[in-house]
Amino acid sequence: MAKKYAGPAIGIDLGTTYSCVAVWQEQNNRAEIIHNDQGNRTTPSFVAFTDSQRLIGDAAKNQAASNPANTIFDAKRLIGRKYSDSVIKTDLQLWPFKVIADTNDNPVIVVNFKDEEKRFVAEEISSMILTKMREIAQKFLETPVKNAVITVPAYFNDSQRKATKDAGSIAGLNVIRIINEPTAAALAYGLQKRANCDESKNIFIFDLGGGTFDVSLLTIKNNVFDVKATAGDTHLGGEDFDHRMVNHFVKEFKRKHNKDISGNSRALRRLRTACERAKRTLSFDMEAIIDIDAISEGIDFCSSITRAKFESLNVDLFEKCMETVKSCLTDAKMQKNAVDDVVLVGGSSRIPKVQTLLQEFFNGKDLCLSINPDEAVAYGAAVQAALLGEGIKSVSNLVLRDVTPLSLGISTKGDIMSVLIPRNSTIPVKKEQQYQTVEDDQPAVSIDVYEGEREVASENNLLGLFTLSLPLAPRGLPVNVCFAIDADGILNVSAEEVTSGNKKDITITKDNGRLSTEEIERMIQEAGKFKDEDKKFVKKVKAMNAVEDYIYNMRKVMKDDGITSMLNSIDKMKINSAMIKGKKLIDSNNQQQETCVFVDFLRELESIFESALNKINKGYCAEESYSDSD
Ligand code: ADP
Ligand code: MG
Repeated sequence: MAKKYAGPAIGIDLGTTYSCVAVWQEQNNRAEIIHNDQGNRTTPSFVAFTDSQRLIGDAAKNQAASNPANTIFDAKRLIGRKYSDSVIKTDLQLWPFKVIADTNDNPVIVVNFKDEEKRFVAEEISSMILTKMREIAQKFLETPVKNAVITVPAYFNDSQRKATKDAGSIAGLNVIRIINEPTAAALAYGLQKRANCDESKNIFIFDLGGGTFDVSLLTIKNNVFDVKATAGDTHLGGEDFDHRMVNHFVKEFKRKHNKDISGNSRALRRLRTACERAKRTLSFDMEAIIDIDAISEGIDFCSSITRAKFESLNVDLFEKCMETVKSCLTDAKMQKNAVDDVVLVGGSSRIPKVQTLLQEFFNGKDLCLSINPDEAVAYGAAVQAALLGEGIKSVSNLVLRDVTPLSLGISTKGDIMSVLIPRNSTIPVKKEQQYQTVEDDQPAVSIDVYEGEREVASENNLLGLFTLSLPLAPRGLPVNVCFAIDADGILNVSAEEVTSGNKKDITITKDNGRLSTEEIERMIQEAGKFKDEDKKFVKKVKAMNAVEDYIYNMRKVMKDDGITSMLNSIDKMKINSAMIKGKKLIDSNNQQQETCVFVDFLRELESIFESALNKINKGYCAEESYSDSD
């Protein structure tokens, strides 16, 4: 396969708490997870600013306790979001670092660096982590690296995907593709190979990470990955399990030493680090030791915890995960035995109890866990990177595609949603449609871009809008609208007024919150619920538009002196008052009116107008025949 990109291409899993980088090694026929300078295969997604330097990864996380206000983490929660986004409201209060809003409501992180106040947007922080991952790869490959595939959660919207891509560009990377994390995990296991042309496979991806829990149901057919359903919890993961263990030891310390360390932040942070380490140990051993020198007032703390105790501390959280698994399948209307593969992703899915519960849920089915769960996403990203770059012989003809979770379109006259790209369209995709202006001398047209399944545009999710100015012209001026989603899932909308060639376009940036799976699901379900109501609404708008169109044409005819001079004065009066009545009817609060009012009124208009015109035609013909016979 021809090489499409010069140089090597890496895969990066840019995680909320940990990131991971991998590269395909053709000679070994597998992807290699690249360890960082500390010898770790995953790198904390942390950036810290000190009096003298900027630290990224382990070094940043290790000094977090002593420099909390200038140690930034969780940038992924902020990326592509607005400050006022309700999803991050609680986070904003809990983060030890300062986040403010700029004039465009974008979140800005404020730190003190080398004794100066510095401001960064989330993309910049993410770009620093990506730079680190790039350096890790360069050191391993002993060559400059430019090309990368970066993964994002399946529920990421356009704005979040675009911001992630921007972060890559800031890091000097050529982001050759943004792919969904669950898709990457499925790729890591080569599951696409199991789905031949006519057979589709259902894959369940269980991703329990550091601070988030995401499950996705994918189907693969003809090499197309289709995200059927997603569910999850934006605040559930390894950190919660650490927290439970910390509380357990705080109580124990109090019992043993009659001292409360719950208000001692330094002691708590040291304890948390020890607990995370113990938790990792418990995934392999039945017991783990905690040993912290002089945790408080010179007292050393030495204790141990068994796997059983750890499980009992967290059992409700583990069960909550299983509830989410269940609801994801219910949402997708899929029986658990229809799932062909269950893939484990995320560091916390290494926890044996989590694996047991999941396996039990799937009636003892073997889980895909031969690739380390916290490395599977980066592994898959590396596979994809190789496919796009050098090509992997075994799967080189594979084309990976994702689909749009919701329909995309614009609002047309009367708030009707006109869909350009239907839900579940395979991306990349490009669709064009011609629209016409609805008024004479309309100065401009507003292109309001929505996603959703409702026929009433404003009931959907507004992604963005722009105005295209128009030359003076009667209504019916053609405007071409084009929707294009690239392979990374980023949407570009352009509109062109055909006669003048005046064109405008935007890359959609959403200023509303993360469209979570639940929200997407809710929108789809609501669309079903409101189907009848929407149909009625569309019918009414169509009836109203028909009245308006008819009046418009009447007015045009009435401007023709040749015709009006032939109308008798009673008909003229009738027509004029019917037009006024019609205008009033349309301008009145039409919500109250039933569709039949407009349908009936149209009939009335038609009969008044046509009978008047018929009289002229007849008169005209009569005159003609009269002159003929003369
Ligand atoms: P992210 O959520 O950022 O994608 P990961 O998938 O790497 O990150 O998950 C990180 C979480 O996994 C951390 O909370 C970490 O403590 C936890 N973790 C890593 N290894 C293990 C292990 N062996 N046992 C239990 N938890 C682990
Ligand atoms: Mg992850």
